[in-house]
Amino acid sequence: MAEEQNQGLNAVSGELNDPSVPLADSYDVVVVGGGAAGLNGALMLARARRSVAVLDAGQPRNAPADAVHGLLAREGMSPAELLARGRREVRHYGGHVVPGEVCAAIRTRDGFEVALSDSRTVHARRLLLTTGVVDELPQVPGLRERWGRDVVHCPYCHGWEVRDRAIGVLANGPMAVHQALLLRQWSADVTLFSHTMPPPTEEQSEQLAARGIRVVEGEVTGLRITEGRLSGIRLADGAVIDRDTVAVASRLVARAGFLAALGLRTAEHPMGEYVPGDATGRTEVPGLWVAGNVTDLAAQVGAAAAAGAAAAAQINADLIQEETDRAVAAARGHTNADDAVDGVNAKEVADVVDAASAVDPADRVGSADAV
Ligand SMILES: Cc1cc2nc3c(=O)[nH]c(=O)nc-3n(C[C@H](O)[C@H](O)[C@H](O)COP(=O)(O)OP(=O)(O)OC[C@H]3O[C@@H](n4cnc5c(N)ncnc54)[C@H](O)[C@@H]3O)c2cc1C
Repeated sequence: MAEEQNQGLNAVSGELNDPSVPLADSYDVVVVGGGAAGLNGALMLARARRSVAVLDAGQPRNAPADAVHGLLAREGMSPAELLARGRREVRHYGGHVVPGEVCAAIRTRDGFEVALSDSRTVHARRLLLTTGVVDELPQVPGLRERWGRDVVHCPYCHGWEVRDRAIGVLANGPMAVHQALLLRQWSADVTLFSHTMPPPTEEQSEQLAARGIRVVEGEVTGLRITEGRLSGIRLADGAVIDRDTVAVASRLVARAGFLAALGLRTAEHPMGEYVPGDATGRTEVPGLWVAGNVTDLAAQVGAAAAAGAAAAAQINADLIQEETDRAVAAARGHTNADDAVDGVNAKEVADVVDAASAVDPADRVGSADAV
């Protein structure tokens, strides 16, 4: 039995764009974003017998990369395959993974009404926001096209793959010298292009020189591509410096603007903009949690997934508290809506308690996509 179950989970199928995936009217939890954070959160919630839907626009941040690196037991797996497995695992426990882009949400008496850009709406008692970030790149022609291949940002994601290569670090922020010194761990051939940033300080220059890192001044205006691969970095004066990899620090901007009506705000960070949350992912908007890159700009896939799981456990605990309060109110014989907890009447209390106690989530929200 266990072996059969594992074979089912390990098979890669159940693609995101499956049009047969249903969306029910209402869920305990709606997860907005189906990357590592959202899927791991949904997995925990589905296994906690919560009805859960993941609404996902299908554009994970690492989509341009060939592989996920630095992830225990899944080292080198393609990002698409990793998420396909995650979706299948969520569905296996009755969770719904539904393609779609959320464009707004409003608060209701008992949760949220979530609107998708295709005009569908869905009710959620709680929201988990795991929409990740947008990587804003410097305005240099060609960078975006090669992003995730020979234009990279993170030595822990790509460093091994570009080891011993001719690496150019494009300065576009205060961390550029640090990034050059870091990449020196992977290659002895690192050049820092100061681009539009001030040249390194005297102290930084000494450090760079001591590590054999050359500094090239002047604005970078483009890339030279030879036979489909990066071969050089072009400067405003026409010079081209041979390089086969460019490292750049993107500015990371949380995808959260569509929830501004709920009062959700982003905050500035040296790396970009993020949605603040406490250690469990709870935000200042009651009932709304965050996990993954949208709140932790430095999170890699493993950390994003772990944060999604941790937030899910907190959401489940929060729902249990609400259900317990209501059950106590019902047990005390409150029948008047005004007397019951949060204005909920006794019948609704009983329904919530019943629903939470025994019914399989797959049965409650439809099992068309359950494995
Ligand atoms: C080029 C590149 C390579 C990387 N390589 C690695 C690596 O090798 N190893 C590693 O550990 N990390 C790597 N990372 C980092 C990794 O991408 C992130 O850690 C990870 O994607 C964060 O997961 P997440 O779930 O928070 O967000 P994401 O994976 O970005 O997922 C967010 C999801 O939410 C969806 N979404 C956004 N807005 C909405 C909306 N309004 N409605 C519905 N859905 C929405 C998006 O379409 C997306 O599917 C890399 C990053 C980049 C840019």
